[in-house]
Amino acid sequence: MSKVLLASRNRKKLAELQRVVDAAGITGVEVIGLDAVPEFPEEPETGATFEENALIKARSGARATGLVCLADDSGIAVDALNGMPGVLSARWSGSHGDDAANNALLLAQLSDTPDDRRGAAFVSACALVTPDGTETVVRGEWRGRVLREERGPHGFGYDPLFAPDDDLAAGRSSAELTPAEKDALSHRGKALAQLVPALRALAD
Ligand code: IMP
Repeated sequence: MSKVLLASRNRKKLAELQRVVDAAGITGVEVIGLDAVPEFPEEPETGATFEENALIKARSGARATGLVCLADDSGIAVDALNGMPGVLSARWSGSHGDDAANNALLLAQLSDTPDDRRGAAFVSACALVTPDGTETVVRGEWRGRVLREERGPHGFGYDPLFAPDDDLAAGRSSAELTPAEKDALSHRGKALAQLVPALRALAD
């Protein structure tokens, strides 16, 4: 069984990656998160792009553990805010990963923005780095619009405020999609799908 380290402490991201591996029928790969690596040296996400930050995280993970390391850097880019919060999505309101404060800030920033100008995209860059230095970077995007109130029990982060365009008829937020529905449509699902051949090769 080959181990792949996901350079993240976000258990929801870990679960999404595990579901992609399972759905692809890859049985020879065990995915572990940073919670399994207690002494992990965190590196600051200093990149200007999702791709640069994903590479920073994946390189440091591979270097520190000697494992194949996968990292996702993701966020929401809001049209009416010229692409903000983008790479700052996790720490936009000040403290890292405070979903409630980030969502409150997004609602406040768009309080005067009419329904036809609330477009946004979730973006995910995923980097896969092997200890021998092979690097693969892929990107997935998911278009939608920002709702006026939070809805739905699933997902994390900005999910309760994001209504994907490809669910327009039902008008659900991405937190109202089932996890399997989200995987099939989402930015991270699209990015990870491009890494399936490389993950499958690790299992062989
Ligand atoms: P990262 O873990 O540094 O890449 O930060 C990603 C941040 O972007 C998260 O904290 C969320 O705020 C947001 N984000 C990324 N992907 C998603 C998603 O699938 N749903 C909701 N929010 C997301």
